[in-house]
Amino acid sequence: MENRIATSCPYCHDTDIQKNGFSNDGIQRWLCKTCNKSFQLAYKARKQSDSNKIYIGVALFFCLFAGIALLSGLYFLNMPDKNYSNVKADYTLQATALLAEFEKNEAKANQKYMDKVIDVNGTIAEITKDQKGATVVALRNKDAFSGVLCTLTEGSNNDIKSYAVGKPIKIRGVCTGMLMDVVLNKAVVVKE
Ligand SMILES: [Zn+2]
Repeated sequence: MENRIATSCPYCHDTDIQKNGFSNDGIQRWLCKTCNKSFQLAYKARKQSDSNKIYIGVALFFCLFAGIALLSGLYFLNMPDKNYSNVKADYTLQATALLAEFEKNEAKANQKYMDKVIDVNGTIAEITKDQKGATVVALRNKDAFSGVLCTLTEGSNNDIKSYAVGKPIKIRGVCTGMLMDVVLNKAVVVKE
């Protein structure tokens, strides 16, 4: 294929042609004596196909990478909340004391409590549901504007049923800072 014998010039189609050495790829070159153009009948595509292989390899790599990223993203999105029922709390304190620390110095309290597991004892001021349907327990003193807001994990929905507004409760959750209230997420009712 590479060194087929040429019978005519591809430019002027004259048959008055002669061999004209070899290309760098070792392919027979021809010279047309009529139009004086040189040509060859095949061009090695090796370099092109090599770079195609690289492109395909890179594309496959990125597809694989994207696939793994997508799957792990889905995994983390659907991952059930970590169960803190059997985790030892980093801190145990009254809801009012936790709130007081945040009100006194929010930056310092953030540094101390952010992402930490905290057990808070408090009085239930309100039991509501958030937009996602999770149960939210507000621990506030009577007539207080702020307190500790605990978003319970789904698994705790049954545990809260035996509690009512005005009753004392101990809740364990992960502190995510202060908005209107100090916020605890992934919270569970601590049974004593
Ligand atoms: Zn020619």
